[in-house]
Amino acid sequence: MTIRIAIVGLGKIANDQHIPAILASDAFEFVAGASHEGSYPGIAMFRDVDELLAADVRVDAVAMCQPPQVRVDAAAKAIRAGKHVLLEKPPGATLAEVEALVQLAKGAGTTLFAAWHSRFAPGVHDARAWLAERRIDSARIVWKEDVRRWHPGQQWIWEPGGLGVFDPGINALSIATAILPNHFYLASGTLEVPANRAAPIAAELNMVGMNGEPVHAVFDWRQQGPQTWDIVVETDDGTLSLTHGGAQLVIDGTAREVGPEREYSDLYAHFAHLIAQGLSDVDRTPLRLVADAFMRCRQVQVDAFED
Ligand code: NAP
Repeated sequence: MTIRIAIVGLGKIANDQHIPAILASDAFEFVAGASHEGSYPGIAMFRDVDELLAADVRVDAVAMCQPPQVRVDAAAKAIRAGKHVLLEKPPGATLAEVEALVQLAKGAGTTLFAAWHSRFAPGVHDARAWLAERRIDSARIVWKEDVRRWHPGQQWIWEPGGLGVFDPGINALSIATAILPNHFYLASGTLEVPANRAAPIAAELNMVGMNGEPVHAVFDWRQQGPQTWDIVVETDDGTLSLTHGGAQLVIDGTAREVGPEREYSDLYAHFAHLIAQGLSDVDRTPLRLVADAFMRCRQVQVDAFED
């Protein structure tokens, strides 16, 4: 039986990825949306999640695609109404609110899925398999992009809970925590916060793995020209480079065939699988590292930044 799904928040990611992936999926049927400004032809539209849940439209699952600061209330209401819920990344603005959703879903017997889309990038699976059999000596993460190009007009990213440069940086952390076989933790770092903003525009994180191996990350939102989304891992048996956000895998200078990009179709296939099996999948590890960065890093003020 197809899963009748609604989307809350018809913004950039809903239109770019969620709607096309749902429409292409045999497992889901796109039946409704909740949006203040957006709309989509041929589905039932409501102003917010309250109207959606009160309406006479059968909905089995809801994809939460609004900014993280406003997600927990809507997700809690949907779970209490017995819906399966997909949370865009990051799954929440705090760890404790994500924990609340986990407990609610457990109590309601519904599926909760924290959708780390970058983990579905084509090179991630093979990178994890290759690294699992080797000793990790070090890892370097460089995630540098132009915020004006990728987040035009989005003010929530600069507000508390919007995470600033960790909005993309958490994608790198979601991949690193998936491919590196050992646990690693944050030891020190620096957050650069523009004078007129509440969230960092750049970050440097010094992390450490269980054998003392360094895991170093640099995130920067001021990158002009070519964009960089790379993870390089040195091992006792060669160098692995996972670049282009996980789309390209090179091992000791030789490119591996990893197939085409299909992050969101694979992500929805996993959501359907979780629902069918009665399972949830809510990994908080990437969000915990970001929370630790706000706890543990030195914050320095840098020049004001205008969009
Ligand atoms: P966005 O374009 O700013 O859209 C978010 C939508 O959420 C808005 O269009 C709005 O839709 C709704 N919304 C509800 N309350 C809001 C509020 N207080 N402020 C602003 N919007 C509000 O953001 P987005 O880029 O789609 O990102 C949404 C989430 O997806 C974020 O967690 C982000 O990290 C994640 N994500 C984004 C991308 C990307 O490429 N942009 C990629 C992967 C993941 P309505 O008018 O329909 O209510």
